[in-house]
This record gives sequence, structure tokens and C-alpha cells, in this order.
Amino acid sequence: MTRGGRWVAKFLLTSVLPILCLAALAWLSHGPAWAWALATLGFCLVAMVRSRQLSMLDAWLDAPDGSEPPASVAGGKVFRKLTRKLRQDLRGREVVEARLRSFREAMDAVPDGLVILDSSHQIHWSNRAAGAHLGIRLPRDTGAIIEHLVRTPGFAEYLSSPDADTPFVLQSPAARTRVYTVRVVPLGERNKLVVSLDVTDARRVESMRSTFVANVSHELRTPLTVVSGFLEHFAEDGVLDTEQRQQFARLMSDQTARMLTLVDDLLTLSRLEAEDAPASEEDVDMADLLAQLLAEGQSLSEGRHRLAVSCEGPGVRGNRKELHSAFGNLVSNAIRYTPAGGSIGIEWRVRDDVATFSVRDSGVGIAAEHLPRVTERFYRVDRGRSRETGGTGLGLAIVKHILLRHQASLAIESEVGEGSTFRVVFPAWRLQPAVSGAA
Ligand code: ADP
Repeated sequence: MTRGGRWVAKFLLTSVLPILCLAALAWLSHGPAWAWALATLGFCLVAMVRSRQLSMLDAWLDAPDGSEPPASVAGGKVFRKLTRKLRQDLRGREVVEARLRSFREAMDAVPDGLVILDSSHQIHWSNRAAGAHLGIRLPRDTGAIIEHLVRTPGFAEYLSSPDADTPFVLQSPAARTRVYTVRVVPLGERNKLVVSLDVTDARRVESMRSTFVANVSHELRTPLTVVSGFLEHFAEDGVLDTEQRQQFARLMSDQTARMLTLVDDLLTLSRLEAEDAPASEEDVDMADLLAQLLAEGQSLSEGRHRLAVSCEGPGVRGNRKELHSAFGNLVSNAIRYTPAGGSIGIEWRVRDDVATFSVRDSGVGIAAEHLPRVTERFYRVDRGRSRETGGTGLGLAIVKHILLRHQASLAIESEVGEGSTFRVVFPAWRLQPAVSGAA
């Protein structure tokens, strides 16, 4: 039977037949008038029930999503089916919405900026990173033309004919200190995907690397030029007498020693940068270490300065060789930047669990604007003085790295013409439990 035929059969069986049976019984018992009256009443009742159900269904469909169907409507088989179907659709919609939400969250977590454009460059969708990179925010910018928002010169031209090999470079409209590269990828037939990448850190590293290479080349070039100049004279017969030869040989030896010191410092720095922590640690006897620093300082000063040492409190846990190198650099700087007759104090103090190593000098001092930069590689306040005294410009960079590996911090107080104090503070847990003696 067809769907239409089934409907007619059902209607006849459930509504028409019972009414006709009742009408037939009324005819037999009370006559035709009663039969007609009963049949009319029956059909009116059926029409009323159906009409009531339809109006309740209409009211339910107008009600907000998720409201329960009225009991009598739900009681009908058709309406129960309808309710089930609607619930299934609702569940399906919730699943799709949840998937869409997690997709959006995933796209927002991507560090690259993503923007989907249509053929006329109208923004259809973008993720969070695109907000930081290109200043695009949804829903505010949905439908906006991207060139109207990103106004960097050359961007519009790049968007129209992108170069697959070379990305477009722009500074963020939001924060001009950051640099981004932009690529355009075709998306389907007509759309485009704009991908932006934050390359600020990579560029900074690259610029630091090339500055470093330039600095090293410059540092090596000066002594090499001096040595090669002298060698030319050596090659010419009869130009130099014995005394001049000896003097030139001494100068060449000085320059070679300078290059060796520079290479040694570079190797130390690269080793320190390559590893996060010292290979080994031990309990360092500070009284012993300070005595060694004093002896080395006196040898470097050659009697031109007054050196004093004071040691109080337990020793420290760390790598003795590295700490010796860091503290030695501070002492050597104090001597090199303090004119003859000045004084230098080397001190180890532990007070209230705060362990401090300090070197104080009465030297030339450092102007405040240089203080934040003196631990940078090759940064010098007075280039001439540094060179004169055999400095490589790497001493404080080495100190900084060693202290980092010991979780210690460096504080510098200085006044031009008055002197400087370099203070190293260790965390309390690096202190040895027992008092190691005083000097
Ligand atoms: P350098 O080999 O040139 O001494 P450093 O890294 O040890 O390199 O120091 C960086 C710069 O900091 C020095 O060139 C110098 O200008 C300044 N400096 C370091 N220590 C002192 C100090 N005790 N007194 C004055 N200036 C100092």
C-alpha cells in the first residue's frame, strides 16, 4: 500500500468506522434522525481534537529551543516522532558546534597568524595571532578589505601578486617593535590564506650573530695588522738593526698574546653558553679562594695598588674553577680600571643567609648609562683603556654566564671618578652548612 493509501485506511479505521458503527446502532435502536445526529457529532469531535492538536503544535514550534512538547501532543505517536527527530537534530547541531569551537581554539593556539580572504580580499575568518600580527580582530573586521586595515606600503601589491619564494616583511601595525613575514597561499579556486610569522626573535639572534662575527673579526684584525706590518720589515734584508728586530719581536709577541687571550675568552664563553650547568660542583673554601685571588691581584698590580681581603662566613657550593674565573675577572678589572695608588677591597660576607662576594675599587668608575650594558659581549666604556690594559671586552660576559649557572646575581654600583663595587649574591641554598673560617 502507498503512503497515501495507508493514511486513508488508517483514517477510515480509527475515525470513520467507529462513528459509522455507532450511527448504525443508533439507527437500529432509535431511528435515522438519531443516527445522523450521532454521526455529525462524532465527525465534529474528531475535527476539534485534530484542530486542538495542530494549534498546540503550532504554539510549541514557536516556543524557545529545547522546551518540552505539551503532554497531549507528545502523547500522539506522530508528535513523539517529531520530538525525537528534533532532539536528534539538536544533538547533531551541538556536536557540530562543539567541533567548531575546538577547531577555533586550536587555530587560536597556533602562533602563526591566519586570515582567510575571498577573491575581493574581504576577510572571512582570522585567528587570534592575526590580531597581534596584522591588527585584524573578529567579528569587528569580518567582511573588511584587508588592504584597508594593513596599510604598510607594498602590502597590497604583494597580496595581488605574491612571490612564493620571498615573503613580505612588515612591522606589526599594533606593536612596531616586532617584525613579521607574510606569505599568501591559494585556498580553493578563489580564496586566499594569508599566513604571518613572528620573526622578531630570529632576526634579533641573526643580528647578534653578525654583530658578534664583526666584533671578533675587528678584534683579531688589529693585532694581525700590527704583526703583518712588522713581518714585512723582517722580510726586507738590512732594513732593521738587531735592537729594532728585538723590539719588533717583543711587540709581535705582545700582539700574539693578545690574540691568544681573545681566543681563550671566546672558547670559555662558547663552552659556558653550550652547557646549562657546571660539569661538577664541590664545597668551595672561600678563605682559600680569596687568598688565591689576593696573590694573583698583587702580581697583576705589581705594587701599584693597596689590596685588602676580608672573609667571613661559610663557603659556597659551586664549581671552583668557574667561580675562580668569575671572581678573578672582577679583581683583574678593578686593578686595570684603578689608577696607581688606588685601593681595592675583596670581600666575602654571609649575613642572614645572604652570601655576598664583592670587589670594591677606587678607580675610574662607570657612568650610569653604561651600567646596563657592561656585561654585553665586547661592550666597553673606554675602548682605548680596555685595550691598553689587555682587555678583550668579554670579561664581564663570562662573569655573567658563570653567575647564571650558579643562580647568583650581579649588582654594580659605580660613580665616575669615585670607583665601583661589583657585588655577587648567591642564593641561600648554595651556602655550606659549616663555617669555613675567616681571613
Ligand atoms: P674589558 O676586557 O674591556 O675589561 P669587561 O667585559 O671585563 O671587558 O668589562 C666591560 C667594560 O666595563 C670595560 O671595558 C670597562 O669599560 C667597564 N668596567 C669593567 N669593570 C670596571 C671597573 N672595575 N671600573 C671601571 N670600569 C669597568
